[in-house]
This record gives sequence, structure tokens and C-alpha cells, in this order.
Amino acid sequence: MLQVTFEEIECKSALNRVRIPSMPGLRWTLNPYRACQHACVYCFARGNHEYLGYNSGSDFDRRVVVKTNVASVLRRELKRPGWRRESVTIGTACDPYQQAELKYGLTRAALQAFRDHANPCSLITKSAGITRDVALLRELSDVAECSVLFSIATLREDVWRHIEPETAKPKQRLEAMRKLADAGIRCGVMLAPIIPSLTDDKENLEAVMKAARDHGAAFVGDNVLYLKPGTKEWFMPFLRETYPHLLPRYERMYRGIYAPKRYSEEVHDTVQRLRARWDMSPERRTPAPEVGQLQFAV
Ligand code: SF4
Repeated sequence: MLQVTFEEIECKSALNRVRIPSMPGLRWTLNPYRACQHACVYCFARGNHEYLGYNSGSDFDRRVVVKTNVASVLRRELKRPGWRRESVTIGTACDPYQQAELKYGLTRAALQAFRDHANPCSLITKSAGITRDVALLRELSDVAECSVLFSIATLREDVWRHIEPETAKPKQRLEAMRKLADAGIRCGVMLAPIIPSLTDDKENLEAVMKAARDHGAAFVGDNVLYLKPGTKEWFMPFLRETYPHLLPRYERMYRGIYAPKRYSEEVHDTVQRLRARWDMSPERRTPAPEVGQLQFAV
């Protein structure tokens, strides 16, 4: 496990307004922590750490900023007369159940505030630690819309070990989702990021889709890997070291941030066919919150 330094700060605001034209349903986010001990090599949030004067590689994995007063600030914001109880997404720039949560309990405190104000929210995680809060999530689901997304790119442990070194095994995430779904909490899977030549084959996509269905997911979202500045300069050396044979393909594909449109469309079409095949199509199940497009998100 990584040696991590926690930097405690007091935040001025808890809720962040988001304006992304392609995602009109995603309006507010909340991140109790900045940076993430889960250390996923592809994490799209890495570049954010540079605003604090840290690097987006080892510092992002090991220097976690903790907003110690986030829950009390959130309660104040939820009480404002102008607040219209819009849905808030927790964990768009960090994992709200990374190991820091065991020490600080800030995600739990934020969920308690949402419950007390009957405010809808969604949350995205790669941690099985969320099962500590099953009862709370159940209480929240009783008074407001609440969704939990588990991010799962692959079930192959040899790949998982390299790309998400400090996260719970995919199997543990699935087991956690089963517990939440059995408790009546609406859960889904983000099949993301879909990584060219590593997780984009039909066998992998189908295995995750089937496992999602078998463990209580109500929906499956998907997104292809993108490499923003702050991420690319760490991801490419990782690739060179771990999967050197893939480097030429990536250099062709990722001249910019996104994979070529044609590739992304082909992958989305495959996922869409698998959704239909495994009874996870939006017509039969509920659609994924738009947050899914952010993560990798999350
Ligand atoms: S992708 Fe998510 S879980 Fe992984 S490091 Fe980034 S914020 Fe953490």
C-alpha cells in the first residue's frame, strides 16, 4: 500500500456547479477529497492536482487533500432558500470511498446531510468500503433518488493489477454491489474506461456486462479511455514499461485527447449490442446517470 500524506483544509463551498453542454443532467458535484489513493494510471482527474502545485503523477496518488468541514458547509448550502434540491454527484474528481474515508468519514457525513435534506444524489466508486454505509444509503433512498455506480473496466486480474493498483478487486466491487442492490439501493456499473487492446475485446466487455447483471446492476454505462494533459504524460510511460508492444498503436490513436471517433463508435455499438443481449438495455432497465460519461470517471 502507498504511503499517503493527508493535507487537511477547510473548504469555502462544498457544491460545485458544472456546465457541460453534452451532459445537461450533470449540474452539481461534490468531492470530499482531492486526488485519490487508488492510483489508477488512466485517471482523468490527475491534471486537477497541478492547480494545487503538485504533480499529477505520484503526488496525485500520495498527497490527498481532505476537506474536513465539507459536511457542515454542505448542510449550510442545502439550507439556502435558493437551493432547488437538484441532484448532486459525489466523486467526480476522487473516489469518495478511497482509504481516506476510513479515517475521516466525510462521504458518510455528506450522505447524512443529503438524507436529512431529502436531496437526490449519485455516487461513483471502485471501493468495497461503501458497504459500511448500506443502512445510510437505504435511508437516503427512502427519501430521495439515490444511485451508486461501481466503476469496473475488466474482471481480468492481471490487467486490473496494472491499471488500478490500489483499488478493490473487481470481484469485490461486484460483491459490494450485490449487497447494496439486495438492500434496495439502485446500483449500476460504469464499464470504463474501455482501453484499446487491453479491455476493448468483446469477451471482456461481455464478461463485465454479464457480471453486472448477475450482481444486481440496473444499468451499465460505458466510456472509452481519454487522455487529458496531466494524465497522458503518466499513462504513456506506464504503457511503455508495462505493455511496450501497444505503444505504437496508442501514439497513432491518441494524438489528441480522445480516441478516433470511428473507434469509439464501434466500441459503443458493441456495448449496445451486449446490453440488449444481457437484458441491460435502457428500454428494459433504467438509464445510467450522465455522470458515467465523466469518469474515465470515475
Ligand atoms: S479513476 Fe477514480 S478511483 Fe481511480 S484514481 Fe481516479 S478518482 Fe480514484
